[in-house]
Amino acid sequence: MPELPDLLFIVSRLRERLLERSVHAQRLREPVLLRCLVRGNLSLLLGRRLLEVVRKSHFVILRFEGFDLLVNPMLAGRFRLATPGEMDERALGFALDFGEVELRYVDDKAMGKAYLVAGGDWSAVPAFPQSGLDVLGPEFTRERFVSLLKHRRDQVRAFLMDKRVLDSIGNAYADEILFEAGLHPKTWCRSLSHADALRLHDAIVGVLRGAAEEVARRQGPLEVKQRDFLKVRLRDACPRCGTKIRKAGVNSSDAYFCPKCQPATRPGLVDWTKTGK
Ligand SMILES: [Zn+2]
Repeated sequence: MPELPDLLFIVSRLRERLLERSVHAQRLREPVLLRCLVRGNLSLLLGRRLLEVVRKSHFVILRFEGFDLLVNPMLAGRFRLATPGEMDERALGFALDFGEVELRYVDDKAMGKAYLVAGGDWSAVPAFPQSGLDVLGPEFTRERFVSLLKHRRDQVRAFLMDKRVLDSIGNAYADEILFEAGLHPKTWCRSLSHADALRLHDAIVGVLRGAAEEVARRQGPLEVKQRDFLKVRLRDACPRCGTKIRKAGVNSSDAYFCPKCQPATRPGLVDWTKTGK
């Protein structure tokens, strides 16, 4: 699933290549991916100029004259910029031909969704995310973060991934952020000290900004997720101390962490430093 650094890169690349171009042709290969919340289908976009591309939470939104196309890639959705006529059409969901360049949405699992709505009518989209705080924006200050953390009764990793509060952190970067802050993923929010909270805030900004820069620097193809620079997610050993990386379930997803750099802070958690494994 694309996360914030990936999405920022996707949005900037789509802007660069597609803005001010008009749709010449469209193809819908997987009808299940598209929901039209206006009368008609993708052909409504024919001849219309793309005015803007924005991100809202995990949605990439293409704003055309009169209509918006909101794409939620979910687990496996990817964007690809192709030359019209290019043969590789594996897992193609739909394509918009912009003349010299074609935007293809591919999805191996066909789990993503694209919604075609009247311009600005984003509230028509089912479960469209409420806006969390942009963690890379100027309003995401240490003070604001500390006040958001107060009164939270969940585990810190669940809090980080609450998109109604923070926009937006997924599995991979939640692990990286907690590693950077030296916090165990199952730590209760209410047990964090003021110093922990400040360190966590700085880790959010540092990790996501660093990753966004790294992804942008690589200028890779849009459809390839750049993740090999991550330190704990899907790793075997901690890059800092060499300890075996462990997994823990938090809210039905797997958290990866280093038991030595991110020690357990409460009773009832496995102390991997003492198991001898
Ligand atoms: Zn470690």
